[in-house]
Amino acid sequence: MLKIGGNITKLNSIVSQTKSGSVFISLFQSKNYSSSTEEFDLTVIGSGPGGYVAAIKAAQLGLKTACVEKNDTLGGTCLNVGCIPSKALLHNSHLFHQASHGDLKKRGVEFDNVRLNLETLMQQKQNAVKGLTDGVAFLLKSNKVSRFNGFGSISSPNEVTVTKNDNSKEVIKTKNILIATGSEVTPFPGIDIDEETIVSSTGALSLKQVPKSMVLIGGGVIGLELGSVWSRLGSQVTCIEFLPSIGGLGIDAEVAKQFQRILTKQGIKFKLETKVVGAEKIGDQVKVNIESVKNPASKESIECDTLLVCIGRRPYTQNLGLQNLGVKMDERGRIATNNKFQTNIPNIYAIGDCIQGPMLAHKAEDEGIVCVESIVSGGTPHIDYNCVPSVIYTHPEVAWVGKNEEQLKQEGVKYRVGKFPMAANSRAKTVGETDGFVKVLSDAVTDRILGVHLINSVAGELVNEATLAMEYGASCEDLARVCHAHPTVSESLKEAHLAAYFGKPINSV
Ligand SMILES: Cc1cc2nc3c(=O)[nH]c(=O)nc-3n(C[C@H](O)[C@H](O)[C@H](O)COP(=O)(O)OP(=O)(O)OC[C@H]3O[C@@H](n4cnc5c(N)ncnc54)[C@H](O)[C@@H]3O)c2cc1C
Repeated sequence: MLKIGGNITKLNSIVSQTKSGSVFISLFQSKNYSSSTEEFDLTVIGSGPGGYVAAIKAAQLGLKTACVEKNDTLGGTCLNVGCIPSKALLHNSHLFHQASHGDLKKRGVEFDNVRLNLETLMQQKQNAVKGLTDGVAFLLKSNKVSRFNGFGSISSPNEVTVTKNDNSKEVIKTKNILIATGSEVTPFPGIDIDEETIVSSTGALSLKQVPKSMVLIGGGVIGLELGSVWSRLGSQVTCIEFLPSIGGLGIDAEVAKQFQRILTKQGIKFKLETKVVGAEKIGDQVKVNIESVKNPASKESIECDTLLVCIGRRPYTQNLGLQNLGVKMDERGRIATNNKFQTNIPNIYAIGDCIQGPMLAHKAEDEGIVCVESIVSGGTPHIDYNCVPSVIYTHPEVAWVGKNEEQLKQEGVKYRVGKFPMAANSRAKTVGETDGFVKVLSDAVTDRILGVHLINSVAGELVNEATLAMEYGASCEDLARVCHAHPTVSESLKEAHLAAYFGKPINSV
C-alpha cells in the first residue's frame, strides 16, 4: 500500500469497500493527497505496453514501483486507440464482408438480409478495450504497483511531479525514472484533423456512419488496416501513397505487390507515387488535391466523405521537462538512449515508441522488461531488433521477420529463396484461404534463416514460429525437419524452408 500524506486510514477504508481495479482511479483522483512521504525505486511515466509491462516486471523483481498515467484508462495507445480497437474492427468487418459478399454463401451458409449494425460493432470494440484496460488496472494492483492518475513531468532526476485533472500536484520521490510516454499521430502540414470528416487513426476507429467514400493518405500498416475496415463495411476507399509500393518499411517487394493485387481485388483503389498537396472541406465533403511524384504538373483532385490521414506517428515527450534537465534527443526528436536504455542522465531510462526503433507494442514490451532487469541486475540487456516481427492484420494477413530480399541484395549477401504457395497447403485449401505464399530467405553458405515473409490468412500467428527459429539461429534444414501437425497452415512454413535448403518442397512443384 502506498503511504501518502496523513490519509492512509481513509485510503484503507476505500480499498476495503471496493474489489475492482477501479479502486485506484478513485483513490488517486481524490484531492486530499499532495505529497508522497516515501521513495520509490522506480517511477514509470506512461502505462502503454512498454510502461505497464515494465512496471509489473519491476514490482515482480522486488522494486517499489509507481506508474504515472495521464489518461483515465491504462494501456496507452495500444489498448485504447491502437492495436486492440483496430483488431476488433478488423475481425468483425471481415465477418460482415464474408457474409455480405457471398463468401459464406459459397461455403453453404445462406441467410437473407445481411445488415450492418455499426453501433453494435463499435460497442463490441469498446467492450474489448474496456475489458483489457480494466485488466491492466487489475494487474498493476495485484502486483502492488502504485498508480498515479495525472500528467507526469520530471522536476529533477529523483522527482516526478504529477499534475492531476483538478490541477493539484503531487511529487513522487524516486531512485529511477523510466519514460514510456509513447507516440502521437503525425499531423499533415496544412490539413486540420477534426476527427469527424478529416480523421486520424483515432477518429477512424469511431466513425458514426460508413462514409460512401474515403481517401486514405498513406499506404502503411495502420492506414491499410483501417482502410480495409471501412472498405469492407461499404466505403469506396482510395489510398494515396507517396512511395511506389504499399506496406511500409521492411515489407518484401514481392509480398507488397501480391498484397496490393489482393487489396485491389477487394475493392481498394491505389494511387502510388502520388503526393497529397492539400485538402479543403467543401460542405460536408473533403476535396483532396494530389499530384504525381514523378510529374508534378500532373494534378487532380478527389472528393470524398471522409479523409483519413495516416502518415505515421511521432514520439510524444511534450512537457516532460526533458529540456530543463538537459536530456539528449536524437535528430528525429526521439529520446536518445544507450544500450541499457539509459538517457544521458544515468538514472533516467526510456523505452518504446519515444525512442528509436520500430513503433510496435511488442518491441516496447520487450524493451520494458529487459530495461528493468538490467536496472535490477546491473547487466547489459540485449534485444535482437532483426528478430522483431511485423504484422499487417488485413485479410489475408501480411507478416515478416528479418531481412527482405531487397536488403540482402543491397548488403551483397549470397542468399537462397524458398517459396511455397498457400494454394498447395492442404489446410488453406480445405478452408478456402488459398491467397498468398510463404517466402524464406537463407544464407547460401550456412543455410541460416535470414528472413521470412508471409502473406496468408494466419501470417500473424505463423511469424512467431519463424521468429523463434531466427532467435535461436536455426537453419532452414532445422525448421524443415521439425514435425509439424497436419493439416495446418504452418506446414507451408516447413515446406518453404525445405524448398530453401533442399531446392524442392514436397507438396508443390
Ligand atoms: C491504430 C493503431 C494500430 C496499431 N496496431 C498495432 C499492432 O497491431 N501491433 C503493434 O505492435 N503495434 C500497433 N500499434 C502501435 C502501438 O500502439 C505502439 O507501438 C505502442 O502502443 C507503443 O507503446 P508505448 O508503451 O511505447 O507507448 P503508448 O502505448 O503510446 O503509451 C504511452 C502512454 O503514456 C502516457 N503518457 C504520455 N505522456 C505522459 C505524461 N507526461 N504523464 C503521464 N502519462 C503520459 C500516454 O497517455 C499513454 O497512455 C498501433 C498503433 C495505432 C495508432
